[in-house]
Amino acid sequence: MPGNAAPIKSVKLFFLFGILLAMATLTARAANPIDALVQDKRVALAMSLLDKNLDWVTEQQIAITEIPAPEFHEAARAAYVAKLLAACGLDVHTDSVGNVIGERGGSFGKSKDVVLVVAHLDTVFPAGTDVRVKRVNGRLQAPGIADDGAGLAALVAIARAMNEAQIKTQTKIVFAADVGEEGEGNLRGIRELMAAYKGNVRAVIALDGAATDYVTTIGLASRRLDMQITGPGGHSWSDFGAPNPITALARGIVQFSRTRVPQEPRTTFNFGVIDGGNSVNSIPAEAGVKVDLRSEDDAELARLESELRKSFASAVDEEMAAAEPGNEALKLKVTVIGVRPGGRLAADSPLLTAIENVDRYLGNRCRLERSSTDANLPLSQGIPAIAIGAGGLGGASHSLEEWYDPAGRELGLKRAMLTLLAIAGAQP
Ligand SMILES: [Zn+2]
Repeated sequence: MPGNAAPIKSVKLFFLFGILLAMATLTARAANPIDALVQDKRVALAMSLLDKNLDWVTEQQIAITEIPAPEFHEAARAAYVAKLLAACGLDVHTDSVGNVIGERGGSFGKSKDVVLVVAHLDTVFPAGTDVRVKRVNGRLQAPGIADDGAGLAALVAIARAMNEAQIKTQTKIVFAADVGEEGEGNLRGIRELMAAYKGNVRAVIALDGAATDYVTTIGLASRRLDMQITGPGGHSWSDFGAPNPITALARGIVQFSRTRVPQEPRTTFNFGVIDGGNSVNSIPAEAGVKVDLRSEDDAELARLESELRKSFASAVDEEMAAAEPGNEALKLKVTVIGVRPGGRLAADSPLLTAIENVDRYLGNRCRLERSSTDANLPLSQGIPAIAIGAGGLGGASHSLEEWYDPAGRELGLKRAMLTLLAIAGAQP
C-alpha cells in the first residue's frame, strides 16, 4: 500500500533535514567573527577579568549611586567617575557642559575615527532624595541604582578590563560619563560629545540601565509643548460675551484631536496636563495645556507640531468670532518645553551585525526596541548608535523603590565589551 511507504520516506527526509540543519548551524557558528575575536589572548584575558572583578564593579556602582546627581547637578558624581576612569589608564578631562571624557588611543594610522561608549551621570531625583543603597533580599535598592548606576559601573568595568589586559584597538575609544540625559536635560551631554568629535564618530554605544534582552535601534523622537491662552477675563454674568480662554482651549483640543496619525511610522499625541480659571462664576483670564508628541519619524513629528499650532491658532480665531465685538483679543503663547530628535539604525549597519554576532556567540536572546535615550541624537544625525542594558536585572526605574540585582551581570559586561571591540577592531 502506498500509504505504508509514506512514513518511511518522511522519516528518511526528516533525518536528511536534521543533518543539513546541523551542517548549516556548524557553518554559521564557524562564520561568526566573534569566535576569532575571543581567540585573541588579550581579549580572552579581558573577558576573564570581567568575571573576576564583579565584586569591585558592584562596590563602584554603590559608591557612584550614593553621590547625588540631580539634573544640572552632576559635578560631584562626575569627579568620582573621572578618578575611576583615570585609574584605568585613560586620558581623562571634563568638558564645558560637565561630561567626563576618557580617551583610549587607537593604532590605526592617521584615522581620527572614534567609537563612543556612554553612560549617563544624571538621575531624575531632586536634591535631598535619600540615595543610600540598601540591600533588600539580595537586591540593591536605591534611586538611580540601575538607571544609570548599572551603566556607569559597566563603563568603568570595561575600561578597567581592557586596560589590565592591555588590549589594543584600531580605532580610538572614548569612554564618556555624560550629563543631561533625563527629563529637561534635553540630551545636552551627548549633544556636546557629538559636536566635539564631529565627523569622526564611527558608532555610539549607550549603556543605560540593566538587562541583556534588548537592543534599542530606534530613537523615538518627541516634542513637548505648553499651549497658553490668555484674555481679559471678567464676570460670568455681567461680562458674558467676552472671549473665554478655556472655551478656546477646548476648541483647540477638539480640533487637533481630529488629526490623523500614521501607524507606521508610529506616531502619538497626548494632552497630559490642563489648567486654568479660578472660580466657577468668573470668565478665566488664562488656560493652558501641556502636550506630548512622539513619532518614529522626525518629519511626521514636525507635521504634527505644525498641525497643533494651526489648530490652536484657529481655535482662538473661532472663539474671537463667537465673542461680542469690541472685546480685548485672546493671546496664544506656545512654548516648546522639550525636544528629542529621533532616528533609526539601518538594518544592514555593521553595528547591528556586531551585536547580533555577539549575542549569537554568547547564546543571548534579544529583541529590537525603540526608546528614548542618548542614542537618539547620533541616530538623528545618521550615525550608527544603539542603547543596551549593562547586565543584571533591574526594576521600578525612576521611582524611590528602584532596584538592581547583579546576578548575571557578567553577561551584560561581556556583551558590551565584545560589541565595542568588534566595532573598534581588536589589534593582535
Ligand atoms: Zn537612563
